[in-house]
Formats: sequence, structure tokens, C-alpha cells
Amino acid sequence: MNSMTNPAPSKLRTVHAAMASTVQEAGDDVARAMYVKARQFNDLYFDGALTALLVEITAPASPRALATHQPRTPEGVDCVIRIAPGVVSGGPLVWEDVLLHEMIHVWQAETGNQEPGYQGHGPKFAAKCNEIGAKLELPPVGVKGRGKDASGAKLPNCAQWPLNVRPAGYYPPETRGAKAAAPKAARQRRAKAADRDEAPESGPSSVDRVREALALVRAMSTDERLAFVDALADVTGGYEAD
Ligand SMILES: [Zn+2]
Repeated sequence: MNSMTNPAPSKLRTVHAAMASTVQEAGDDVARAMYVKARQFNDLYFDGALTALLVEITAPASPRALATHQPRTPEGVDCVIRIAPGVVSGGPLVWEDVLLHEMIHVWQAETGNQEPGYQGHGPKFAAKCNEIGAKLELPPVGVKGRGKDASGAKLPNCAQWPLNVRPAGYYPPETRGAKAAAPKAARQRRAKAADRDEAPESGPSSVDRVREALALVRAMSTDERLAFVDALADVTGGYEAD
């Protein structure tokens, strides 16, 4: 563990406030919508407890990640959420779910509920997912490999919540436009990846990889999605690992 592990949350939100006003004035439609949605989620699911959020649409450090939460950047900025452009191109139902997931990590950091031993996805994280999930009428999730429901069946992994518990067909199919825009080579890689249910080992950009993952998710039943945890796993906590 290094000094960036579990930093004491700072009340300093100068950068966050400046970003929010910049987005409001000059951000594109999606960015503005995302900041509005973040405020709504804060009120609806966190009792307004989260301080100003900083969300960037940019490729996360891990090419397979849909999004990340960085507890503190080297510059001293706390709780930075990064959402992959490929997620955004999946449409609002996709990015809203990814944003909500990352906001639980912000909640953890700001309320002293960090779980570094679980890379962020421990019992407290799962409990918060389930508290929000009850309002969304979603089935419960648990810590990977641990949680079981009343019947003894393994609970879906909270590290993929809520993407892995949305009903089949919840996310819209990939648009024809997005498919047409994908270069032929990327489509071929995607086809190969679909065969083996994983992202290609090399070649495609992070955006390609995220699109591949999302395309697979859309086509899956809920059970299939549970089996696809690796490609969907975000790397929250990755910044905290040595
Ligand atoms: Zn996470």
C-alpha cells in the first residue's frame, strides 16, 4: 500500500466547483447531462451528502475498465470519477448506471467507508448497492464469491452493480450508426472477442474494448452477464494497489 491508499477525505472542492461551472457553461450536451444526473443521484440516493463531484469523460487507466474512481490524484484532487467514452456512446441508460456505481465509491471515501481490502467492493459497498437497489427494484448483490441469498444461491458480484442486475433488454441495442462507424478491423476483433467472451489481448483501443464489452452485455441474459464479470470489472482500487 502506498500513501495514496485511503487518503483522509478533504473538504477542498475548488477544482470540482470550477469544473462544474465550466461544464455548465461550455460542456457538451452529454457532460452537462452527466453533471445534472450526478446531482440528482446525490439527492435521491445519498441524501445530498456528497460534496461537489468531478466527473471526466476519458479513457480510464485500465483499457478494460468502464470507469474508475481515483480517491486522490497526485495533484491533490479528491474523488475523481472517469467514465470511458465508449460507455457514454452506449447512451444514458448505460452511463447513468456506471456513474451511479462510481458515486458509491465517492460515498465510501467521503463517509469513511473505504474497503481497500476488497478493492472497494466489500460488504459496505454491497450494502449501499442494495440500499439503492431496493429503490430501483433491483435484486440484491454481494461481495464476489461470498454473498448468498435466502435460498443459498450465490449473489451477483457488487463490483458490477447495477449493470449485472438490470433485466434483460434494459439497455438499448447498439445503434446502427455506431456499428457503421466502427472500422472493419475493430468489428472483426469484436466478433472474435464475442466468440471467446473476453476482450482481445492487444490491438484495439480502450474505446474499442469498452464497446466490445457493452455489446456483449446487451446481448446477454442476466445469468450470462454474471459469468462475464472479468470484462466488466472496473478497477476501482487499482490506484490503491502497489
Ligand atoms: Zn466499483
